[in-house]
Amino acid sequence: MVELVNEIRLDIFGDHVSIISTVRRVRPKEFRKPQHFVCPFCAGNEEMTPPATLVLVERDGSEEWLRDSDSERVKGWTVRVVPNKFPALTTSPPKPTSPSYTEAYGYHEVVIETPSHIGDVHELSNEQFSKALKAAFRRIGEMMSDPRIDTVIMIKNRGPQAGASILHAHSQIFALPVAPKRIEREVRVFESSSECPLCRYLARELGEGRRLVYRGKHFAAVAYEAPRIGFETWIVPIKHSRDPLSLSSEELRELALVLRAISYAIVRGRGFENFNWWFHIAPKSAREFHWHVEVAPVSSTWGGLEKGGDSFIVEYSPEEAASELRKWVGEFIDSEAR
Ligand SMILES: [Zn+2]
Ligand SMILES: [Zn+2]
Ligand SMILES: [Zn+2]
Repeated sequence: MVELVNEIRLDIFGDHVSIISTVRRVRPKEFRKPQHFVCPFCAGNEEMTPPATLVLVERDGSEEWLRDSDSERVKGWTVRVVPNKFPALTTSPPKPTSPSYTEAYGYHEVVIETPSHIGDVHELSNEQFSKALKAAFRRIGEMMSDPRIDTVIMIKNRGPQAGASILHAHSQIFALPVAPKRIEREVRVFESSSECPLCRYLARELGEGRRLVYRGKHFAAVAYEAPRIGFETWIVPIKHSRDPLSLSSEELRELALVLRAISYAIVRGRGFENFNWWFHIAPKSAREFHWHVEVAPVSSTWGGLEKGGDSFIVEYSPEEAASELRKWVGEFIDSEAR
């Protein structure tokens, strides 16, 4: 029996929070024992997850947004969003074990990006992945309307070394009562600058071009100039905006395309089997923000300097990474257009 502890504890220097969640230990791991694994995300296995909080169903070309009930699961879906069965955050957390800890209130949900057992978003149709993003943003909007929630982070873990336990394409949404320190630091810079630092950075990268991986109508992707790990790439909306919650369908399709192209470039092109991406979107409390996606392949293992000194030795220059990624991203986008 695992002792159930689920609370948020703050570092004594105020540098980070720890979300202690012992229930996470017992979750199934597809990569460890694949022969006994039944995928809870595949169509037909809806009973294996908690009731969905949002289900996209398409009938006769029109979209219906539904929810599961406790007794019945919606079938024939395109995208499902379900509470994590082994949540790190919950709207009914147990009492903290000490008055100095905060209950781990929040949402921890999974966006199941396809009903089929497909592992990579670059193997989904652009249509399908656009709908997965649309459902995710719709659900994020609902979480944001909870007065106790301040910040939402959506992340993707691809591959076991990036923290994934299930292959089937999915993202995770974490909604927290407080802004994580990384995001808080970004907010502070946005709020204290007279001109948006990300707009300024992007204008420079678009002008110079050496680290540019993709430039479209609404989005650009750059190999970040000061990476923490080789091939770190940022996807940035060209128009200054706080969050992606009200993207047009044209913008959604382009975002889906560039994310899929980056996934293809990293996994198929460069051969990095593991990567993470995360969406940094404005916390409710932030006065200024410019949302973006940071993509980090597991291209090396962090040593003590990286973990203890917040200084990162990176073996690939962003200029070199950009020229490689640009080639595969171009190849992917050309093949999509055909
Ligand atoms: Zn599956
Ligand atoms: Zn901006
Ligand atoms: Zn960021």
